[in-house]
Amino acid sequence: MPRDLFNPNTADFAQFDPETRRLLRATVDWFESRGKSRLLDDDRARVWPSEFLDFVKKERLFATFLTPAAEAGGDPNKRWDTARNAMLSQIFGFYGMTYWYIWQVTILGLGPIWQSDNTVAKQKAAAQLEAGEIFAFGLSEKEHGADVYSTDMIVDPQPDGGYTATGGKYYIGNGNLASMVSVFGRRSDKPIIDSAAAMRGKPTQEDYEGYLFFVADSQHEAYKLRKNVVNSQIYVAAFELENYPVAEEDILHRGEDAFHAAMNTVNVGKFNLGFGAIGACEHSFYEAIDHAENRILFGHRVTEFPQVRALITDSYARIAAMKLYSARAVDYMRSASPEDRRYLLFNAIEKMSVTRQGQRVIEDLADVIAARGFENDMYFPVAMTAMFGLPRLEGTVHVNMALSLKFMANYMFHPADAGLAAMRSLPGVAVAPTVATRAAAGALSWTSRKLTPRLGSIVKPLGAELACAAYEPVPTRHDAADDEFLFRQGPSSGLGRIRFADWRPVFESFRDVPNVAVFLEQVLALQALLAVAAPTPSQQKDVDFLFAFGELVHGGALRAAGTGAGGDRGHRPRGHRPDLRRLRPRLLHERPCPAQQADRHRGPATPGTRPGAPPHLRQGPLRACAGQGARTGRDLRDEGLTRHASTSARRTGERPGDARAGAGSGRQVGAVGARTMDADGDRSRAVGLHGDDTSTCR
Ligand SMILES: Cc1cc2nc3c(=O)[nH]c(=O)nc-3n(C[C@H](O)[C@H](O)[C@H](O)COP(=O)(O)OP(=O)(O)OC[C@H]3O[C@@H](n4cnc5c(N)ncnc54)[C@H](O)[C@@H]3O)c2cc1C
Repeated sequence: MPRDLFNPNTADFAQFDPETRRLLRATVDWFESRGKSRLLDDDRARVWPSEFLDFVKKERLFATFLTPAAEAGGDPNKRWDTARNAMLSQIFGFYGMTYWYIWQVTILGLGPIWQSDNTVAKQKAAAQLEAGEIFAFGLSEKEHGADVYSTDMIVDPQPDGGYTATGGKYYIGNGNLASMVSVFGRRSDKPIIDSAAAMRGKPTQEDYEGYLFFVADSQHEAYKLRKNVVNSQIYVAAFELENYPVAEEDILHRGEDAFHAAMNTVNVGKFNLGFGAIGACEHSFYEAIDHAENRILFGHRVTEFPQVRALITDSYARIAAMKLYSARAVDYMRSASPEDRRYLLFNAIEKMSVTRQGQRVIEDLADVIAARGFENDMYFPVAMTAMFGLPRLEGTVHVNMALSLKFMANYMFHPADAGLAAMRSLPGVAVAPTVATRAAAGALSWTSRKLTPRLGSIVKPLGAELACAAYEPVPTRHDAADDEFLFRQGPSSGLGRIRFADWRPVFESFRDVPNVAVFLEQVLALQALLAVAAPTPSQQKDVDFLFAFGELVHGGALRAAGTGAGGDRGHRPRGHRPDLRRLRPRLLHERPCPAQQADRHRGPATPGTRPGAPPHLRQGPLRACAGQGARTGRDLRDEGLTRHASTSARRTGERPGDARAGAGSGRQVGAVGARTMDADGDRSRAVGLHGDDTSTCR
């Protein structure tokens, strides 16, 4: 379940069908039997993971998980299932980014193939997967980065038919071995798009005509593997094609379709980044808490220091939010269709915000684990490197931020906003922001939504917009369906037309959680501001402005975690509320902490405070009694984390291999420091220690 940290000893993957369960378990067992020290040795020595690939072949792991049903040849277990692919990404992230990356670039390499009409190439790819081969995605070039228009992979038509390709590619994962490398290039006899001009206006169909995707075999003699461009166990190839023969049956996409194939492939591939980050953070979390709990300084366990408790609690809450958001985004990916393209927003945020939050987790945990996090028998250094990289792969944060902002007007202003309708018809709204703001803020209140159906029937355009934004509820998707739409996503344009369901009812149903109440207040204020003072044209061109604004908006996105990424709560039965109390660190207020209790007895609000707010919120920024229910190191070990405990056991002289090593002296981490949270919900400063069980601090 998303709310729990992954535990290799108990994970049964019960949500999946039997063959998926078997394969996921076999994968975990393969890593566990290999053992942490061997995995880390191989990482350090940059050993190409051929034994892992033998396992993949023997178990038909990639063949089963990455062959869409249409190419499965009747095998009932083969399908493209985003839910189980996400789980596998998380497992790979947990054990090592090398394994995650090989899988990830195989997915990217398959993207243009599965989207193609080229049946020969598709059958070949299915057969190659069955044979245990890996794949690669040849888009990037050394000189051009994100500017793919300027590709120097030149494809020359030959007089007797077919083509030859000449040019270099750079940063191509699996480019050393992939049997099919999907390569992006352009014909020598067609126009090349001036990318500077393309930034100002969309090129025409003719401009696109010469671009194409074709497949190349990395073992062909005209495929010249130059080097691995990174100093790592993964192979990120620089290669050149020298008069490489490209037959008609090697061509996957032509013209503008080649661009759509690239975009749509990245849409599928980048979704794995957040899951890789989750796995890496979970493993690092175990290492950090295990080390801190067993290290005695100044007569105290490190886990007794207030700032350490706060960092651990924050990290746990952050990982939980990463998991909840991502789990719900899976549902939207799987339920996507030409009529429901909301996945494009949730996918960009999953990639960008979940990986960045992961980076933040590793930074915070680095302050807990300290020097131990650099030692060569730890997974932590692997995660540090990985978490620096993930936000920057498959489109930098800037690129994904710019993308997701395109959806924001529609997301923030669902057409069911009676207030928005009122705003549009308010005379003089543009010149009377103060009055208009008040009107908007009032009109955008909860009750105003009840007016909307009536308004919809009166105001024609609003009625039409409401119809666009009416979606069937998106259920939780662990079913054994084939996500075939991902390979027929169509043109990547038209983002501004995508409508979203009303996000407010979801937050409303959790407004008894004080953080949610404050967050709602802030979003409504932002919404009112935008209604009356939308970004000016010059602000819209100002990247700094957009980035700052994007941070405001996306900070909120993760807060929707688990409550329905799309503002759609159809995934749980009516009247049912998920038991958030089981997600303990998220429940910052499940029982009053001493600060709250003190507040309750303090009497009327003092000047400068916020009457009407819950007592503990009255003093300005949200004060949360974080992590009253954080699990202890002992809890974690009791759940069977023997592997992670054993290192500490050795260090503390307890019996190695004892499942409860160190547990005998484990003490309650429990209550932790109250914190001041900034508007983004991020920690700004610790303000003291509350509810500490001081009897454990001897
Ligand atoms: C480990 C690793 C593995 C990789 N694997 C693959 C692979 O398998 N296949 C593959 O094809 N590629 C791969 N890549 C390449 C990766 O996707 C590239 O990072 C990407 O193509 C961008 O190129 P670049 O990093 O050189 O950045 P550039 O595109 O040169 O960007 C530099 C800066 O400019 C900014 N920028 C770019 N465009 C804009 C814009 N329009 N507006 C505002 N700012 C902009 C970027 O945000 C960035 O900050 C890999 C890279 C790495 C590091």
